[in-house]
Amino acid sequence: MTRKPTFPAEITGLRRTVPAPAKPAAGPVAKSFAPARLETARPVAAQVQATGLDFNAHRARMVQRLAGGGIGEARVLRAMGAVERHRFIDTALATQAYEDTSLPIGLAQTISKPSVVARMAELLCASLAGQPGQRLGRVLEIGTGCGYQAAILSHLATEVYSIERLKALHEKARDNLRHFRLPNVHLLLGDGMAGFAQGAPYAGIIAAAGGQSVPTAWIDQLALGGRLVAPVLRGEQQALVVIDKGLQGITQTVLEAVHFVPLKSGLA
Ligand code: SAH
Repeated sequence: MTRKPTFPAEITGLRRTVPAPAKPAAGPVAKSFAPARLETARPVAAQVQATGLDFNAHRARMVQRLAGGGIGEARVLRAMGAVERHRFIDTALATQAYEDTSLPIGLAQTISKPSVVARMAELLCASLAGQPGQRLGRVLEIGTGCGYQAAILSHLATEVYSIERLKALHEKARDNLRHFRLPNVHLLLGDGMAGFAQGAPYAGIIAAAGGQSVPTAWIDQLALGGRLVAPVLRGEQQALVVIDKGLQGITQTVLEAVHFVPLKSGLA
C-alpha cells in the first residue's frame, strides 16, 4: 500500500529544510512519518496511560464518597467501582466522569448522577440484604440512555432488559456497552411505558425517566416479591417512589425529591 502523497511528503520536506521545527506537527499522522517526532510520541503514550490510571483513582474516590454518603450495599459499591463511567460520556466531559453530577449524553438526555444511580440500585436490591453472593433475577430498566445504569445492573441481576425510545441513544448504548461484553444485558428499542411483557415477571423494575404516574403495565410485569423504583411527578416536583408487590397487594413508599428527564411515549 502506498502512503498518502501530500501530508507526510510535506512534513518530510519541512524536516530537511527547517532544522529543528519549534511548532508541533499539525496532527497525529505526522508523528508516525517524522522520526524527529518520536521523542514527543513517548510522553504522549505515557500521558494516555496516566489518564487511564487517573480514571481508576477518580472512580475509587467516587466509591469512597458513595460509601461515605450512605450507600452500604457492598454489591452496589463493587458495581460502581467496576463500571468505567468515563466510557459512557463524550471525551470532552470525561474529566467530570467521576464527579457527582449528571451529564449530557445527547438528544437533551442525561446520564444520572452516580449517587442517584447507586441509591436506586441499592433500593432495587434491598431484598438481597443478608444474602451475600446472591443476585436479583430479571430486571427491567426503562430509559437505557447511554447504557451506564444497565452496565451497573448487569452486576446485580441475572438478566437486564433495558428499553430506550430514542433510536440514536439505543444505538449509542449498544456501542458503549460493546467494550464491556455483558452477555446478560439485552437492549431494546421501544416505548418503555408498556414495559416488556416478554421478559416478565421481573424481580426489579427501574425507571430513569419520570412520568405523572407509574404505568400499570410495570406493576403487572413485576413479580410477586418484586420491587419497582421510579421517579414520579408529585405536583411540580418529582420524587423517588418505591413500589413493592406482595401477597397483600401493592405498597408504595415516597422518598426524596429527584430530577429526571420526562418519561415520554412513542418512539423517536
Ligand atoms: N439510565 C440512563 C439514563 C438516561 S436518561 C443512563 O445511565 O444513561 C433517561 C432516558 O429515558 C432517556 O434516554 C429517554 O429517552 C428515555 N425515555 C424516556 N421515556 C421513555 C420511554 N417511554 N421508553 C423508553 N425510554 C424512555
